[in-house]
Amino acid sequence: MGFAEDVAAVAAKPKGPRCTAGQAAEKLSPEDRDGFEACLRGVLEQTFTYTQVADVMAQRGFILGEHVLSRHARRKCQCPPWEAAA
Ligand SMILES: [Zn+2]
Repeated sequence: MGFAEDVAAVAAKPKGPRCTAGQAAEKLSPEDRDGFEACLRGVLEQTFTYTQVADVMAQRGFILGEHVLSRHARRKCQCPPWEAAA
């Protein structure tokens, strides 16, 4: 197989299971989940910090490390897109 076909095959691989951050987000209310994802984007844009997001998640009962949040925010985890789960 050519390189491009190999890359296409990797992209087609089904995602999952959700990472720790994704599993926690799944248990939030839809409103909170949108806020969580929005704030993670905010971290990438340097509006917020991972510590702030982690603190609010801790208030909601989820203890998440910066590493997990970072991987999830950058979509380096195995979480399928939320739309796919709906
Ligand atoms: Zn994730």
